[in-house]
Amino acid sequence: MKQYLMLRGNSNLRIACECPKICPICNNNISPINEFEKANIDINLVSILFTCPACGKSFLTHYNYEKYKVESYKEHSYYSLTLLESFPVKPKEAIFEECIHNLSPTFCNIYNQAVASETYGLDQLSGIGYRKAIEFLIKDFCIYKHPNDEEKIKSTLLGQVIITYIDETSKIRTLAKVSVWLGNDETHYIKKFDDKDINDLKRFIRATVSYITYELVSDEAEDLLNT
Ligand SMILES: [Zn+2]
Repeated sequence: MKQYLMLRGNSNLRIACECPKICPICNNNISPINEFEKANIDINLVSILFTCPACGKSFLTHYNYEKYKVESYKEHSYYSLTLLESFPVKPKEAIFEECIHNLSPTFCNIYNQAVASETYGLDQLSGIGYRKAIEFLIKDFCIYKHPNDEEKIKSTLLGQVIITYIDETSKIRTLAKVSVWLGNDETHYIKKFDDKDINDLKRFIRATVSYITYELVSDEAEDLLNT
């Protein structure tokens, strides 16, 4: 939703701004209510206080503008604002099936900490978090499948655990391997897969989670059949 406004208290400043489409607090898609605007022309900054109609909370959005970037609307010229950031920001928690929580609560916890760090712009740390999360997911899955080897699995390098304990024909093995490779890229000095980024890493982790979920649910069904 685009707004064309004459700023209160700055009679010469007309602005054209795109409202945030997602509430930074509840993460719902919204058309926010504009409560108040203020400009600081010394630093080309406009601050707008919005209220989210979904959660009822207010947040502040900063925009900047450049003198040459103007657009016309109904016979007036407006500075075209660029959205910089909104505050406060609440991370959107990743939701996992109950069986994944039961299998590896630490994975769910670390994954969501990585999501939070990404939301707060700590992109150099979130990749390390996702890499740690996948280690817990895979090792806890292997311990579930091979409970007698728990101590051995815990102390063995993840790559070796995947080769030793996950069937060669399993999609989980392929996905886990690739997730670990991309995760390692986020932690090492030199990157091996230049064309892949943290979003690819997350895609592979989510796919690994899906296959593990199928496996856990299938095991539960088999247990039912055998009772
Ligand atoms: Zn909201």
